[in-house]
Amino acid sequence: MQKIGIMGGTFDPIHFGHLMTAEAVRDEFHLDKVIFIPAASPPHKLNFKLTSPLHRYNMTLLATASNPYFHVSDIELKRTGPSYTLDTIKELSNIYPQAELYFIIGADAVQGLPTWHRVDELLQLCQFIAATRQGCYPDVDAIKKHFGTAGQRIHRLNTPELEISSTNIRKRLQRGYSIRYILPEAVCNYIEKEHLYQK
Ligand code: ATP
Ligand code: MG
Repeated sequence: MQKIGIMGGTFDPIHFGHLMTAEAVRDEFHLDKVIFIPAASPPHKLNFKLTSPLHRYNMTLLATASNPYFHVSDIELKRTGPSYTLDTIKELSNIYPQAELYFIIGADAVQGLPTWHRVDELLQLCQFIAATRQGCYPDVDAIKKHFGTAGQRIHRLNTPELEISSTNIRKRLQRGYSIRYILPEAVCNYIEKEHLYQK
């Protein structure tokens, strides 16, 4: 059976934390591919000004181009309204009816999982892989327990902790600091060419 990883995020901008995590999960869980899905307007970031979806999509394409296992989908960008993961996973289960879907999230995101839109239904359609993230140490066992037997569909993976966040990258750019070596060079060049994240 085909195993597909899904890496959702705003990717504003995408960085080595996202890429390294996706690759570690792919390796460890023997995934056939990982699909990166930039979110249009995530429910938890509705009051937050994001860079245009097209720029975030382009940066995600550039960042993943050299990895044959990595793909990028625009399904969330095509929908209007808040980007609920449930809608995305439903769409993907229709496209890949035979596949096992694994949604990859960092430790900061796993904490909020019980509050996600129709999360019980979501857990029936995909499994979750909670990757380590520097500075966030949620009680994953308590979260698994919260979901009862469905909690077995939440897996944990220890990944190297890279102290990188898009928030920090945006701040560095606003202050005029270098962002080289924390995200792919092609993305750095794109940010420079398009004058993104400046004051
Ligand atoms: P922002 O600071 O704008 O929230 P971010 O760096 O947290 O950006 P997101 O696009 O919000 O990036 O994250 C998408 C997914 O990637 C989330 O599941 C998040 O937990 C995970 N993630 C982001 N950065 C890392 C990292 N350094 N290590 C592990 N997981 C990460
Ligand atoms: Mg985040």
